[in-house]
Amino acid sequence: MDMCSLKPKIVCGGRIGPGYPEAAVLVLILTGIGMQGLEGLKPQKVDFWRGPARPSLPVDMRVPFSELKDVKAYLGSHGLAYSVMIKDIQVLLDEEREAMAKSRRLERSTSSFSYASYHTLEEIYGFMDMLVAEHPQLVSKLQIGNTYEGRPIYVLKFSTGGNNRPAIWIDTGIHSREWVTQASGVWFAKKITQDYGQDFTLTAILDSMDIFLEIVTNPDGFAFTHSKNRMWRKTRSLTPGSFCVGVDPNRNWDAGFGMAGASSNPCTDTYRGKFASSEAEVKSIVDFVKSHGNIKAFISIHSYSQLLLYPYGYKAEPAPDRDELDQLAKSAVTALASLYGTKFKYGSIIKTIYQASGSTIDWTYSQGIKYSFTFELRDTGRYGFLLPASQIVPTAQETWLALRTIMEYTLNHPY
Ligand SMILES: [Zn+2]
Repeated sequence: MDMCSLKPKIVCGGRIGPGYPEAAVLVLILTGIGMQGLEGLKPQKVDFWRGPARPSLPVDMRVPFSELKDVKAYLGSHGLAYSVMIKDIQVLLDEEREAMAKSRRLERSTSSFSYASYHTLEEIYGFMDMLVAEHPQLVSKLQIGNTYEGRPIYVLKFSTGGNNRPAIWIDTGIHSREWVTQASGVWFAKKITQDYGQDFTLTAILDSMDIFLEIVTNPDGFAFTHSKNRMWRKTRSLTPGSFCVGVDPNRNWDAGFGMAGASSNPCTDTYRGKFASSEAEVKSIVDFVKSHGNIKAFISIHSYSQLLLYPYGYKAEPAPDRDELDQLAKSAVTALASLYGTKFKYGSIIKTIYQASGSTIDWTYSQGIKYSFTFELRDTGRYGFLLPASQIVPTAQETWLALRTIMEYTLNHPY
């Protein structure tokens, strides 16, 4: 939700960062009974970072200081225990902004680019152009559409030739506030250019398959997280008849669209939109996937929670390839953990977190893309969406091992 419009007294400047100075974040560990109590909290009072899902999972929410007293009283009166996760997110926002400013003057090529700091949309688009210029034989940039606000939507294509080869799709940042994902996407792009011809597995993959990488999958939302509201998740489209902006692009796909697990209220963060693929950012990928017709693995990357998920999200029935996907997920999270010991849980979306309808990978799976996965990267709730920039590279490195596992499996198990 947009706290700016709902709480005008909160400072919402155009500068990066200080949009939401008045916020504490509480983390709640709840019981089954408690979860029902939480529904009484109005969306204008709190911003759920991790919504109520199942009794075993914690709930994280950001609470403006102005609401803190009321929210605490509410939790107390419902017998809900909680602890404070981040006392004042302003401290983290300031650190994040400082690191960004420092890195900016260094970036003349992808070698001097600062992978250990966060970047604006313009900087990431600039990075993509540098990478293409440095590796014209391997990397090209495709424009697959325009956003609601008219920004170009770009995909990097890594290819060593051939004609419509079987392909792997990776996207990051469809939820704009999940900054470690776009930052990881940048790192993956560089990694591919470094490893081709060096790393045996990646070389074998690229010698017979193409990789498509969409680093900023929600450019309007991402620009907004820099200019106005660091905590923005959705697209920026307007819904006629509502003052609330944006659609959840991970509830907007034509798979179980409109079923339970998404909201019909434009003012919520899981608003599904008026109809499936109503969002230009979703429709562009739908059109691309359909016209390509030979995508074999589709991996959509989110944060946070440390999960690797496969279909379905909208129904409890196991996917026909459930056993194979489960085995592959297990191998991928094992590879991931081998680097820094970071533990990921894995399973179907509906069984592992909650019912979510209209999600990306349910749609890609329905299109016959068997290896359809969603990641939720670091962490598990110490920093949430404000993961310190010092964790970008380790996060990307460990995730790469899981991605490489899935890509290698895709190469060796054609269908
Ligand atoms: Zn997300």
